[in-house]
Amino acid sequence: MKTVTTSAPGRVNLIGEHTDYNGGYVLPMTIPQRTVVELKATGGGRATLRSGNLPEHKAVFSYELGREARAGAWADYVQGVTKLLAGEGYILGGFEALVNSTVPIGSGLSSSAALEVAMMRALREAFALDLDDLAIAKLGQRVENEFVGARVGIMDQMVSSLGGDGAALFIDTLDFSFKRVTLPADTDLVVINSGVRHSNSGGGYNTRRSECEQACGLLGVKLLREVPSTGLARVEALPEPLRRRARHVVTENQRVLDAVRAISEGDMKELGRLFVESHKSMRDDYEVSVPEIDLLVELALGESGVYGARLTGGGFGGSIVILARRGTGAAAAERITRAYAAKVPYKPVILVSGEQGADK
Ligand code: ADP
Ligand code: MG
Repeated sequence: MKTVTTSAPGRVNLIGEHTDYNGGYVLPMTIPQRTVVELKATGGGRATLRSGNLPEHKAVFSYELGREARAGAWADYVQGVTKLLAGEGYILGGFEALVNSTVPIGSGLSSSAALEVAMMRALREAFALDLDDLAIAKLGQRVENEFVGARVGIMDQMVSSLGGDGAALFIDTLDFSFKRVTLPADTDLVVINSGVRHSNSGGGYNTRRSECEQACGLLGVKLLREVPSTGLARVEALPEPLRRRARHVVTENQRVLDAVRAISEGDMKELGRLFVESHKSMRDDYEVSVPEIDLLVELALGESGVYGARLTGGGFGGSIVILARRGTGAAAAERITRAYAAKVPYKPVILVSGEQGADK
């Protein structure tokens, strides 16, 4: 039978971190790195998966469709996909799938959403499923929430499924509406992976999410999105650490709105300032940064062409995103990574460095 080949990109979030599961705003864009799935329908009811990104003993996983069971392994992202699709009434047959990705795994650039979206695109094509791109994004989020056990919001799946063409997506996660936002041409976007890995199905992410829920309970709202930045006085009265957690979310939502305005006005200095404020808020209030990431941001801010820099993605490791004057980003990235590697035992990787960075 014929093999279908599909792919989906990773993403870098420009600003709006930990706001998506609070019903707030985000501003991610796709990166050139992608996850590719080659899938062949085999008949029967078995799924056999292989990842080219893992050592042999972890790379292969096989299961009977309809008997998906969480294994605490990478294949859970695919088992979740087939289980949820079947639950929605889609009919699948047996298949073999080979996964290969250039999105670094566990680096805050959303290899997990790229895997889910690429896999659903492959299944859609192989089994003629009537699925649109937003439905794929929503199912991908549910896979992480309901099957993998990572309580992520909708940002990663939406931008991987619906983003591209060099534009960022300004998403309102309350109603899934989105708008393309293009960075001014005179900017360089740089993404550097710290080499410190995180896992969204690990404890920290889910703890933050339940802290937000506790804050909502005390504030009498369903989502922190309902608290505007003018309502911060109420947030200040919360007990710690809920006070700082909620303060991050409320101020970060405002920063996304301010960032979209700064971009439309071509005000890169203001956008850079918002990046720096966002980083401080993640570091001090949300406490999802790590010393290595703080070091990368500090090194970036020491560069004269840099407008701003911040941790991107859920945190606890991962990557930073830098906004720089056009023509200065690539050289700055080299100096930053050299200085970083001389100080810490991790190997940094420059993933994007160029005019407006991302996917073109
Ligand atoms: P991120 O999405 O930031 O990369 P997550 O912790 O959300 O980090 O997801 C990473 C997990 O996704 C990996 O631990 C692995 O289980 C799975 N994964 C993603 N891409 C691949 C791949 N190409 N091959 C195997 N597993 C993958
Ligand atoms: Mg992820």
